Amino acid sequence: MSINLESSVQYLRGVGPKRAQALSQAGLPTVRDLLLHFPRRYLDRSSVTSISELTVGDEATVVGEIRAAGMLKGRKARFEATLDDGTGLLHLVFFHQPRIFERRLKKGTYIACTGRIQVYQELQMVHPEFEVLDSLDAELGPDRGRLVPLYPGSAELSTFHIDSRLFRKLIQPLLETDLPDDLSDPLPDHVRSRFGFPTLGQAIRQIHFPDNLDSAERARQRLAFDELFALQIHLIQRRAGMTRGDKPHRYQKAGAAERHLLDALPFTLTGDQKGAIREIIADMRASRPMQRLLQGDVGSGKTVVAAFAMQLAVRSGFQAALMAPTEILAEQHTASLTRLLEPSGITPRLLTGSCTAAVRRDILEGLASGGIPLVIGTHALIQKNVLFRNLTLAVVDEQHRFGVQQRAQLSAKGHATDVLVMTATPIPRTLQLTLYGDLDCTSLRELPPGRTPVVTRLIKESDHPTLWRWLNDRFDKGDQAFLVYPLIEESEAQDLKAATVEFDRLRTDVFPKRRLALVHGRTPTDQRRKVMDAFRNGETHLLVATTVIEVGVDIPNANIMIIEHADRFGLSQLHQLRGRIRRGTKQSYCIAVSTVSGGPQFERLRIFNSTTDGFKIAEADLDIRGPGELLGARQHGILNLRVANLALDQDLLEKAKDLAQEVHAADPDLNTPEWATLKRSVAENRPLWTAG
Ligand code: ADP
Ligand code: MG
Repeated sequence: MSINLESSVQYLRGVGPKRAQALSQAGLPTVRDLLLHFPRRYLDRSSVTSISELTVGDEATVVGEIRAAGMLKGRKARFEATLDDGTGLLHLVFFHQPRIFERRLKKGTYIACTGRIQVYQELQMVHPEFEVLDSLDAELGPDRGRLVPLYPGSAELSTFHIDSRLFRKLIQPLLETDLPDDLSDPLPDHVRSRFGFPTLGQAIRQIHFPDNLDSAERARQRLAFDELFALQIHLIQRRAGMTRGDKPHRYQKAGAAERHLLDALPFTLTGDQKGAIREIIADMRASRPMQRLLQGDVGSGKTVVAAFAMQLAVRSGFQAALMAPTEILAEQHTASLTRLLEPSGITPRLLTGSCTAAVRRDILEGLASGGIPLVIGTHALIQKNVLFRNLTLAVVDEQHRFGVQQRAQLSAKGHATDVLVMTATPIPRTLQLTLYGDLDCTSLRELPPGRTPVVTRLIKESDHPTLWRWLNDRFDKGDQAFLVYPLIEESEAQDLKAATVEFDRLRTDVFPKRRLALVHGRTPTDQRRKVMDAFRNGETHLLVATTVIEVGVDIPNANIMIIEHADRFGLSQLHQLRGRIRRGTKQSYCIAVSTVSGGPQFERLRIFNSTTDGFKIAEADLDIRGPGELLGARQHGILNLRVANLALDQDLLEKAKDLAQEVHAADPDLNTPEWATLKRSVAENRPLWTAG
């Protein structure tokens, strides 16, 4: 029978029933899916280095045969192998999940591996990326193209020996037929020629077996553009849906009440804060619902900006809600907004998971009847039974801690609700255009005056005695410090124990004369409040904490932040933690204690040490971790990008955005036949090329 795009992969040579099932489970049931399973990268034969010519410190690709391999027992088991390419020997070391590597790298296996060259008694690569090859000749012989595609794998696939080798065998013959051209091209000719893109068929041939790196990149860009373009259309449509129609509520004019609030502030607003308030109030008074992101580095003063917006809503006879990711932060907001809004006669209520049943009932009643005009809370606010009489303003603080869904759930508590989301994690331009593409954006770039820059120091664990002596001196001068331990979810109980044990040791052995306190995610609410209040009032010298204090916590007198195991934190997290102490006017210090002195974790610390600019940190973080991880799984939904790379493809993204806007303006419902595939892809939330 003849093979077409819809044929099951089981009809291909080399695929039996078991492999067909594995491919199907991996999302590749048909020939079409196989053609659209793109390589992750290429093995470039011209860039293979002989082991005898390796330079320490460089990244290199080496091809050879495994001569010896074995597990090494010890404090931590590891797997080691020796690679031979005829010019020399290279040592390969695997610490993490060594058994997996033991199974794959048997004696006599041919591999290509890429990694950084180190010396430790002999030349070695630690955890190189590698690819099992058929044999040196078959993979690298002259009959093959110079670039050998390497495909993404998965556990299921490798169980059935479906690896890059097999993908190459299956895909190459398909490319020699007309099949790639049978896929209908979602981009019309005029768009392709405008951007100089290849056709879909050409792009698919070149992405699998490119003539050279340039044409591989052109193919990749074409396919990435398809993804970004569909994403932009999706965002434009979603936004159009959200802001469709006029909102029924009308806010009063700004006036005397704003004055009162302004006069009651213990400081003058920065120019950026004033600008932000003006923009937000104009949005609220416009006829369409507001969808605005307020971004400003930690300590830039976003809370007070939100206060103006909430005050306007309440004064106009409506309800406002502010959602924060942690109870500590919700409590802090309640305290500071109570103070700020008291002169306006507004008293906020606090709703969290720790409220007693009676308080909870009282708040739910007040929200339903409209008796409570302003509520502050955690996720508790988006529970089903929380109903509002007339919520018109939803504010989400530290938005990066919530998912798109949760933001929507809060605003769905009202009708045509105005939405203000705030974030202290600056959002790189590429993400602004994608994940946040449905929001208008205001930035606070200016910090309130009089903040002295934080001094950051990287130290080693062995420097602890010096650190403790220094800290004792600082306590004498009236300073207060946070000391933070990482908490990694898989072993939370164990981590918590470590923090508790360390706390006891610090209290009894290191600082017997000082007042220390401990707070973590399991600390009972009452006790946590007492601890935080005491720290805020200057009664505690050292607050030992887990990352519960990571976001938003504002304690002006605390000027020292010590981060233990700093290498276990992400860049943005480190930046957030440092942000806890840039508050008062005293000199602040951030001490990052590192347990490593090299490798990618250390690189992160080096960047952290070199800049306090949140925007630079965010860009670097995006580079290091990629958007998926940066945003966390919860945010992932609409960013299922297979080819596009948000860290690299900013230009493409801008082009895709321009085109999407043009197309949307001319044909908002995508009814012209040339956009039929696009329309289907957006409606079904599938990649553009699979919808043809
Ligand atoms: P963030 O933007 O990180 O949420 P906050 O709203 O918590 O920052 O503000 C940080 C601190 O700065 C608070 O103590 C707040 O009272 C203070 N603050 C805000 N705006 C100003 C200003 N214009 N001048 C001086 N201090 C300010
Ligand atoms: Mg804040």
